[in-house]
Amino acid sequence: MKVMQILPFARNLLERTCSNGDIVVDGTLGNGHDTEFLAHLVGPTGQVFGFDIQEQAILNTRKRLEDLHLNQQVTLFHHGHEKIKESIPSDLHGKIKGAIFNLGYLPGGDKSIVTKPETTIAAIRQLLELMAIEGIIVLVIYHGHQEGAVERDAIIEFTQSIDQQKAHVIQYGFINQNNHPPFIIAIEKRRD
Ligand code: SAM
Repeated sequence: MKVMQILPFARNLLERTCSNGDIVVDGTLGNGHDTEFLAHLVGPTGQVFGFDIQEQAILNTRKRLEDLHLNQQVTLFHHGHEKIKESIPSDLHGKIKGAIFNLGYLPGGDKSIVTKPETTIAAIRQLLELMAIEGIIVLVIYHGHQEGAVERDAIIEFTQSIDQQKAHVIQYGFINQNNHPPFIIAIEKRRD
């Protein structure tokens, strides 16, 4: 297959935008796979800020990072991404180059704890303020569960309404696959 799968596409967008020394965000830590990827991408001179509301996600991510000696460049917050602006030091506002939100529930965890449209959109609004120009926010949208479909619709409605002078917004996904495959919405900031 020559076309890119969803997760490689998400990572490719971040690789095109972020490099050593950059400031980035993992909006949903889960088991820490994306945090690990981001920590490698920005290296020891960069910084990853990560958020999750579940203690299990914090523990799983911390363990993964410690095992790989990547914890030095990562700050974990055990609270929701809707507190992103107050959590990130003000001298770094305007300097964030990339962010990823893998939405839905924690794989292997409690499936009743899911990301919610209000808090996800609140985080995106704050991030749009905090990002550097040409910084990118990647949303991986899982809509196979009932709340996921509601979140999908709200995110599409919100991101479609972003002024095109302020950001490029794209959607990428397979449209002929069964079982509601995840898809991507990515937002590249153009101006403040
Ligand atoms: N990126 C993760 C990985 O690489 O393993 C997977 C993330 S998982 C699909 C979604 C996560 O979002 C869950 O761990 C859940 O606890 C978390 N979550 C739900 N609401 C949240 C919120 N308001 N802020 C931050 N995380 C939240």
